[in-house]
Amino acid sequence: MKKIALHWQILLGMILGVTLGLLMTQFEGGNEIVRDWIKPFGTIFINSLKLIAVPLIFASLIKGVSDLKDISKLSKMGGKTIGLYLLTTVIAVSIGLFLVNIIKPGESISSETREELVQNYSGDASKYSEEASKQKESGPLQALVDIVPENIFGAASENKNMLQVIFFAIFFGVGLILIPEKKSKPVKKFFDGFNEVILKMIDLIMLAAPYGVFALLSALVVESPSIDLFNALIWYAFTVILGLLIMIAFYNLLVWVYTKKKPSFFINGISPAQLLAFSTSSSAATLPVTMERVTEHLGVDEEVSSFVLPIGATINMDGTSLYQAVAAVFIAQAFGMDLSLGVQLGIIATATLASIGSAAVPGAGMVMLVIVLAQAGIPEAGLALIFAIDRPLDMCRTTVNVTGDAAVSMIVAKSLDRLHVPKIKDWDDDYPKK
Ligand code: ASP
Repeated sequence: MKKIALHWQILLGMILGVTLGLLMTQFEGGNEIVRDWIKPFGTIFINSLKLIAVPLIFASLIKGVSDLKDISKLSKMGGKTIGLYLLTTVIAVSIGLFLVNIIKPGESISSETREELVQNYSGDASKYSEEASKQKESGPLQALVDIVPENIFGAASENKNMLQVIFFAIFFGVGLILIPEKKSKPVKKFFDGFNEVILKMIDLIMLAAPYGVFALLSALVVESPSIDLFNALIWYAFTVILGLLIMIAFYNLLVWVYTKKKPSFFINGISPAQLLAFSTSSSAATLPVTMERVTEHLGVDEEVSSFVLPIGATINMDGTSLYQAVAAVFIAQAFGMDLSLGVQLGIIATATLASIGSAAVPGAGMVMLVIVLAQAGIPEAGLALIFAIDRPLDMCRTTVNVTGDAAVSMIVAKSLDRLHVPKIKDWDDDYPKK
């Protein structure tokens, strides 16, 4: 029998997970069964992905940077990467603002629904604003200070310090380029081998992906809040999702125009990472798979992917920035506020920065949304309005975050002449046979 492609297997796992979750909510005690006996397997799956993230960044980034052989190549690639990341984020926020101003989802919220939502979720919302206020208290340059760890072992012991690990790995790679080859060779060889081992571990973890997402989604279904509140927020969710779909189309177009690779090729190559991003709501947990797909299936040279993707997973969150813009204006509309053009331009700036500052974990975008709200003078209590539906939207925006990273990596690779025939071809006719 022909083996079913991984993305179909994952999709099947997702559908079965949702079905089981829905079935179990019908039985008394069903929720507990899922929580106690199925959810743990989802947690184990996510943990095994997160477990790989820090060693993967170390190994691949050090290997990637030192393979560059000279510093000017590094700064060229760095400049292109950061420039493209910023550009796509600003485009995403602008699309979000445009849609929310046209669709005006906030105006469909009645004052009773608003009261009900605020009452139900104000506790959760205040937890988020507390977290955000810790970030706000620090000075304007704190984000820069936070990139440089004072102890690399300390930094590597927590996944949320990813940017610090990236800093160390790039710094180490630069050191490796600058020492004589006789000395650097064994170190490079070590990281080469180390990298191979990590990639093999990712392959092994991915064998469990269909089962992992099955467990994750069934748990998500039994734990989600009541459907009535979802209905009240349907226009808001529609606006965010429409914006996210436009972004996916935009990436496909960008890749097509710039690299001449068809959308079918791009989507086929990246879809397992997208499905995983959707199931885990975490770009960081998805990073190992994004890396594998982009390198092996989309033909991006490891030299590029190992540099562009870890940075992207941490700072490039187009889906998150789009959602923050829509959410901020939605809340303002629901409270009957009119936002001036100046305030909306301010939202472009703060949502861009807030998405850069969001950690690549579930719900992080909502924490940083508090900062966007505060800057625009929108009541923070409004967070409670969108709480009920945040998780499904988080799943969608994370998918866009990951797709954006992959698209940028292809474009950077093409511009540096580092886009090859992929090792594993899912889409044969796209490449000329050699
Ligand atoms: N969950 C998102 C991510 O990991 C961040 C967010 O909450 O928007 O990319």
